[in-house]
Amino acid sequence: GTNVNKLTVLEAYSVLEAEGLVHARQGSGYFVSTPPLPLNQTQSTFAPPQEAIVTEQQGGWFYNLYMASLSAKEYPDIIDFSNGFSQVCEAKDLPRVARRAVKQVGDVLFNYDLPQGLLALRQQIARLLIQRGLEVTPDNLIVTNGSKQALSLAIHYYVKPGDWAIVECPCYHGVLAILSELGVRAIGIPMTPEGMNLELLEQYLHTHRPKLIYTVSTLHNPTGITTSQAHRQQLVRLAERYGCPILEDNAYEGLNFDPVPAPIKALDKNHIVTYLGTFSKTLMPGIRVGYMVSTGQHYQPLLERKLLHDLHVSTVSQAIVSEYLASGNYRRHLAHLQTKHLERRNMMLSALERYFPSQVAWTLPNGGTFIWVQLPPGAPMPEICQEALAQKILVAEGKPFFPDFQGYPAMRLNFSLTPEAIETGVSTLGNILKRYI
Ligand code: PMP
Repeated sequence: GTNVNKLTVLEAYSVLEAEGLVHARQGSGYFVSTPPLPLNQTQSTFAPPQEAIVTEQQGGWFYNLYMASLSAKEYPDIIDFSNGFSQVCEAKDLPRVARRAVKQVGDVLFNYDLPQGLLALRQQIARLLIQRGLEVTPDNLIVTNGSKQALSLAIHYYVKPGDWAIVECPCYHGVLAILSELGVRAIGIPMTPEGMNLELLEQYLHTHRPKLIYTVSTLHNPTGITTSQAHRQQLVRLAERYGCPILEDNAYEGLNFDPVPAPIKALDKNHIVTYLGTFSKTLMPGIRVGYMVSTGQHYQPLLERKLLHDLHVSTVSQAIVSEYLASGNYRRHLAHLQTKHLERRNMMLSALERYFPSQVAWTLPNGGTFIWVQLPPGAPMPEICQEALAQKILVAEGKPFFPDFQGYPAMRLNFSLTPEAIETGVSTLGNILKRYI
């Protein structure tokens, strides 16, 4: 409250600090402390909450990681564990589907189209979402240029410079980069195996009145964690109580090995949840087709923003995805991806057990494409990453996934590479780690 004496607050903090529950960082305030590593090799408990101004370097890091991974493609002998999408690309029927799609849209290509996207595509997406437990109609959908555009549109709609936003910690660095560019302050709530820590979330909802909660609820980037049903319910209840909108990013949905709970959006009675999806991770990133589900009073302003931003997504791209979904092959395609990904996840887990030193811990994801690897405190990440690159291995360093760059040493590994790349890459990394930690 506003009538609490500042000194009382400072005293309270010093008590907490003495108990090791928070620590001061010069010039930036108090941060909830990172407890010592609680992990063994198969557990996944991560706990560095961070209340922070999102560092201005976020945009640069995002750019650099993206460009590094892109240029790695030009060197076939580089093993790239850093990239953010499936390396199992087997939608072989796509060129045929694409030709058919372009023929079918025909004259539509010679005109502008609706900002919300082709009706046929929105109908297909609505069908897909209904199968996943989310009741939507084409009128709740806006097709976007990848889900990245949807993130950008929604974030600009819900938060203003100087506002607080809640993110998971660690968090998809692409979102931290948007927040940093906007001048939004972020509170990173630590991930637990069930999803973000709800007690801390409630505390911060109370004290900071954030304007947005961003969550990758299913197959979280970067940890691979799927938020449990109980946490989803509680999250919606808390968000409703504090009037805080939720941005639910389900970029990896469809890539789960076991059943996952229905989207958080399915629990939303009061239009506080905006839901995002994409075909980048299951079909191909280059087609740039993603979508946003918005209901109630938020749909129209978001749609107007989409129009003023870039009118609409390329009709060619939309038609191809629409035709692919209509062909009925998508379900089979997903099943194939899931099988392949499970195989490769298991290979990587086995390689990690064999080659990584025992002080290192990692998550056990139920799908997606990422394993998050946590190194002991003090592990020199820049040197490790540099040495890895010298040996032609690219990893995503953990640093940019933390709002203020101050998390524990960590890295994100894409497990969907070929078996040979996994074996060679992980054994080489293991040798490097043994030298540095
Ligand atoms: N959200 C998450 C969690 C992601 O990992 C990514 C891609 N790395 C995106 C959104 C953006 O993907 P796209 O724009 O290709 O849909």
